[in-house]
Amino acid sequence: MKKIQEHYIDLGYDTVQCTLCPLNCNIGPSRPGICGVRFNRHGDLFSENYGRVSLLAVSPIEHLPLYHFHPGAPFLFVGSIGCNMKCPFCNTWRISQTAAGTRYYAPEQIIERARLLGVAGLAYTFNEPTVWYEYMIDVARLAHDAGLLNVMATNALISSDALHELLPLTDAVVVGIKRWNSEYYQVACGGRMAEILNNIVAIIQHCHLELSYLVFPDDEAQEAELKEMIKWILELSPEIPVHLLQYQPHFQMKDKETSVGDLFKIRAVVKARLPFVYLSNTTEKDANATHCPGCGVALIRRKAGKVDTSGFKEGKCKRCKAKVTILGL
Ligand code: SF4
Repeated sequence: MKKIQEHYIDLGYDTVQCTLCPLNCNIGPSRPGICGVRFNRHGDLFSENYGRVSLLAVSPIEHLPLYHFHPGAPFLFVGSIGCNMKCPFCNTWRISQTAAGTRYYAPEQIIERARLLGVAGLAYTFNEPTVWYEYMIDVARLAHDAGLLNVMATNALISSDALHELLPLTDAVVVGIKRWNSEYYQVACGGRMAEILNNIVAIIQHCHLELSYLVFPDDEAQEAELKEMIKWILELSPEIPVHLLQYQPHFQMKDKETSVGDLFKIRAVVKARLPFVYLSNTTEKDANATHCPGCGVALIRRKAGKVDTSGFKEGKCKRCKAKVTILGL
């Protein structure tokens, strides 16, 4: 637990307004905010999850998923508890929506662990990392001082001020887009799509960005939504990698998982307009390969944590010499 020094307003009468994210919770005494981890103690706001680690594991960066950033590099994946959204399909709801067991690690201990393990950096993930803001900033500063990279998987529901403080410490971000539908964002997930899209625009101006998007089964509205999303991405940058994720039943949503056939159908729709589209939580053949936008040859193949970059050399396709940006290669 740590007393919070910024991103809140003292409203008097022992009530505070947290301004870390656009939900701007007014929090009365002895109450938490919507995320469950920022708590009002006698008129002061505390980060209840400061230093509380629920999961710590070494994984290839592809598992975040980040595909165009240091391919194959091991990262120390680290997560806490809490989330400012309430997606009914959350696959990590046991740590995002409940008070799961945690162990305290001082920021220095995380860095020490990362150095001993010889990883390329830290990946803040599992629950929503931005509701771990103060701790993430403390660890990320030490990480950069130690020559380690900082990457995160986030819903991007954070205030613009807080995001701009975090971005200089951040090397890559994958933003999980839930639906291309602001009503669904608000009603089903408790999010704010307009603010999230503004944040995505800010992120790409500072560091490497990839997007993920969950594909639901038998959902006719989704194809039209996807077309809108593609239009928006094309205006931002057609080079952004997009990870299409297979919906699987978790938490409050019990519908059957999206079929592989539907995933490939949706991928074809997206790939007709964007060059880098992946089916990132499936193991189907070729679903995760990076193909050259010039000649179509596989530049990078990914399978079971192994990455084969033999189609790629010095920033170019070996065959047709088309330039493709893959950071860290
Ligand atoms: S970070 Fe948590 S407490 Fe703060 S505004 Fe967002 S949901 Fe509310």
